[in-house]
Order: sequence, then C-alpha cells, then structure tokens
Amino acid sequence: VNDHAQPADLHKDKLLGGLLAAGFDEDSCLSRYQSFLYRKTSPHKPSPYLLSKLRNYEDLHRHCGPHTQSYNKMVEQLKSGQTTSSIDCKYVVWISFSGLGNRILTLASAFLYALLTNRVLLVDRGKDMNDLFCEPFPEKSWFLPLDFPITGQFNGFNRESPQSHGNMLKNNFINTSTKSLPSYLYLHLVHDYQDHDKLFFCDGDQAILGRVPWLIMKTDNYFLPSLFLIPSFEHELSKLFPQKEAVFHLLGRYLFHPSNHVWGLITRYYQAYLAKADERIGIQIRVFDTGTGPFQYVIDQILACTQKEKLLPEVDMHESVVMPSENPKLKAVLMTSLNSGYYENVRNMYWEHPTMTGDVVGVYQPSHEEYQQTEKKLHNRKAWAEMYLLSLSDVLVTSSWSTFGYVAQGLGGLKPWILMKPENQTAPDPPCRRAMSMEPCFHAPPFYDCKAKKGIDTGAIVPHLRHCEDMSWGLKLV
Ligand code: GDP
Repeated sequence: VNDHAQPADLHKDKLLGGLLAAGFDEDSCLSRYQSFLYRKTSPHKPSPYLLSKLRNYEDLHRHCGPHTQSYNKMVEQLKSGQTTSSIDCKYVVWISFSGLGNRILTLASAFLYALLTNRVLLVDRGKDMNDLFCEPFPEKSWFLPLDFPITGQFNGFNRESPQSHGNMLKNNFINTSTKSLPSYLYLHLVHDYQDHDKLFFCDGDQAILGRVPWLIMKTDNYFLPSLFLIPSFEHELSKLFPQKEAVFHLLGRYLFHPSNHVWGLITRYYQAYLAKADERIGIQIRVFDTGTGPFQYVIDQILACTQKEKLLPEVDMHESVVMPSENPKLKAVLMTSLNSGYYENVRNMYWEHPTMTGDVVGVYQPSHEEYQQTEKKLHNRKAWAEMYLLSLSDVLVTSSWSTFGYVAQGLGGLKPWILMKPENQTAPDPPCRRAMSMEPCFHAPPFYDCKAKKGIDTGAIVPHLRHCEDMSWGLKLV
C-alpha cells in the first residue's frame, strides 16, 4: 500500500490524473477508487485531449446507451433491416469471444475504435463479463441488453457469414457507392480472417462502415495498432496519444476495474504475500507446447533469464549458511502458471540454498488450474486477479505470445523481460529479451497497402509501429 501519498494529492491520484470520472458509487466497485493505493503513480499522464474525449464519450454513452430513446429507435431500425437517413446513434457491439487476456485486449481495441468513429460501445456479457468487471461509464450500462434482437446469432458468426463486411464486399453487395446499406454488418476480425475482412483497415472501407449504424464485432486480436495506419484516424490519434506506447496502459486503466469479488482476491493476496516486500518480481509462465509440464527446459530458461538479468539473486550451492548482509532485502516473487512445477522449483531453490547477496526470497503462486477452463466463473476470476497482481510488480518477466502477460505489462506500465519461445524443447539463448515498450502485440496484422493495392511490410512504415519482440510478424506500438 502506497503510504507516501500526501492528502492534497490524494483526490487527484484517486482519479488517476483525471482518467476516471468522479461520482460513481464507491461501494459497488471498490477497485475503481482504491487501485491507486496499490500502484505507484503512473509516469504516463493522459493528454488533456484524451480526458476531454473520454468525458465526451461518457456523455454520448448516456445519450445513446441501453434503453435510451435513441437506442430504442436504433434497435427498431436494426429489426427493419434498412438504414433510414436519420441515424441518432451508432454502435459497435463487442462479442465476448476467446480467453480472458484476449478479451481484455480486444475490448480496449473496440473502445478506441468507438472513440475514433463516434460510436457507442456495447458489450455482450457472454458467460461472465459482468462477474469480472465493473461498469466503466457513468449512469448507463456498457452491457448489451439481454433482449437485443440478434444476440442469438453471435455464436454462429464466422468468416463465412454472409452478413460480414468482408463477404458483402466479396459478393459485391456493398461498395463505396452503395446507396442503401444494411442496418448492421458483422466485422470478422478473428485470426482466421480473409483479405476482404482486412479491408476494415482501409480508409475507403471506413467510409462505408461509417454509414452503417450497427457494427457487430468478433475478434481475438489486439487490432488497435493497425488503427494507427488508417490515414483518417492519424490526426486524432496523435492528439489523443502523444506517447504511443501508453495507449493500452491508459485505456486499460480507464476501462478495466475488477468487480468486488475479484478485488477481494487481489487485495487479500497482495496484503498476505506481497505488501511487505522491498521488491516484487512477477514471473508469468505460459507454455504453449503440448504435453503436461513442468518441462526442464522451461525451468532452465526461467533461472537463466532471472540470473543473467540480475532480477533474482544467485544462490550459493556450496555453503549452507551465508553471513547475513547488513541490510538484507525481502524479495517477493509472484509466479503465475497453469502448472505448479515451475513455482515449486524456484521456491525450493531459495529454501534449500542461501542467496549470495544475503537477500531473502519468498516465492508464491496463487493458483494452478492445470488447464484452461474459459467457461468456469471462479477460474476466470482467478485468472483476472492474477493478471492484475502481476501488474502490481516492480519487475516483470512474461512468456512469449501470451495475451495474459500483455495485460499485466500494459496495466502495470511495465516493460517486461520476455522469455523467448523455446524451439525443439531447449531453452533459447539469450533466454529473454527486454520489451521495447509495454504495449501488447497484434498477432495477425494485415500486410496491405490500401492505396497501392498491394502487399507491404506494415512494420516498416512509421517509426511508432514495429514488429514484436516475441512474434516476428506481429505489430506493436513503441
Ligand atoms: P493467452 O492464451 O496466454 O493469450 O491468454 P488468455 O487469457 O487469452 O487465455 C488463457 C486462459 O488460460 C486464461 O484466461 C486463463 O483462463 C487460463 N490461464 C492461463 N495461464 C494462467 C495462469 O497463470 N493462471 C490462471 N489462473 N489461469 C491461467
């Protein structure tokens, strides 16, 4: 708990430098106004323009949100299938899809898209969205009402769906000169999307989409970086985010407040195991190899990385006791993994042997759920609590390709050391690499030049978009 805060700064800190709106009921969402007690003040300040954009968005959401007059009118249009000339409000509906880390990243992407296109974001609650997160916008819910007319179709939407933007283009049902557009289009931005779906990232198609009141989006990818290559968004984005690497950091802290159950998991764990440490080191282990771990090559890699980068002290294999140093530090290591083997290994090492520095190392792992169980409530509560706890670290080590780790680094404002992906079951050398920025990686970006209508390396166009450290074809903001 941050006990250095001065009373005068308290109010400002509590609202994260104006990022959060005041006036929410505090008890219904304790995390919203308590998170500052667990974090250092972020050096990444929101721009005044972002703050005014968020307040304007909140007004729009109040005006167009669920069950408002405008919403009811636009739902009638949706049912009728045709757009009329009077569009009161436009929407982007986010379909709950994929693992929790992926969902957090896609939701942030959809929200930025809504901000850029003056749309209202509505969230399909899926199995557990309302169990995991608080409402981020004042007064009107961000959840799609349960009686929304086409919710029943969400599961069936896929890249073959005739209502998708890509298939409508491919089959020549829509183009830039189409007068009468449908009242909704499905946006298929899942990793298996096709060339026509990817035209979403072209200005010409944004002009078409801009005239469709309802966009229904399914994605498992952090597509936000590619919005930075759409010329019509460029000016607005540079005003919103003068510092490109803090986009998810700021949007994430604005949007994602753990629900009270999850906040209980976070704060009890933090106070019991992490609060008293001089330094907190988060290690996120996600192994995509088949077979049940723990794998020795992953253990080797964790130790090689943390020792080489001096994130954890070396142990003395020969002495049973090392003279205590004058000022020993207490280091708390928070490990997360589906498997408990990695944690047991590191914990035993620091129990069985003294450290060379005399520092004391405690190793903790909140859960080991063994396998991904996306449909279970407590499972996802724990997953969210663990991402959040990792984000409270001072130093972070993450696994390649994992959105779980991306969420932690982004919320925490941390540039992690990334454990590079093992090849042929051996620890790579070097075992880990420092990330260029705290931004998540877009795993399936388009490689298309909309103007020239040909392929292009989208990681080599602007200085603030680069290929990712952990995935050579991915794209991230730096
Ligand atoms: P990704 O697959 O690593 O990109 O992350 P996702 O969060 O999208 O999906 C992985 C899912 O597996 C999580 O949502 C959890 O349900 C589960 N999972 C993976 N690693 C962990 C972990 O360390 N702790 C817990 N509690 N769950 C995990």
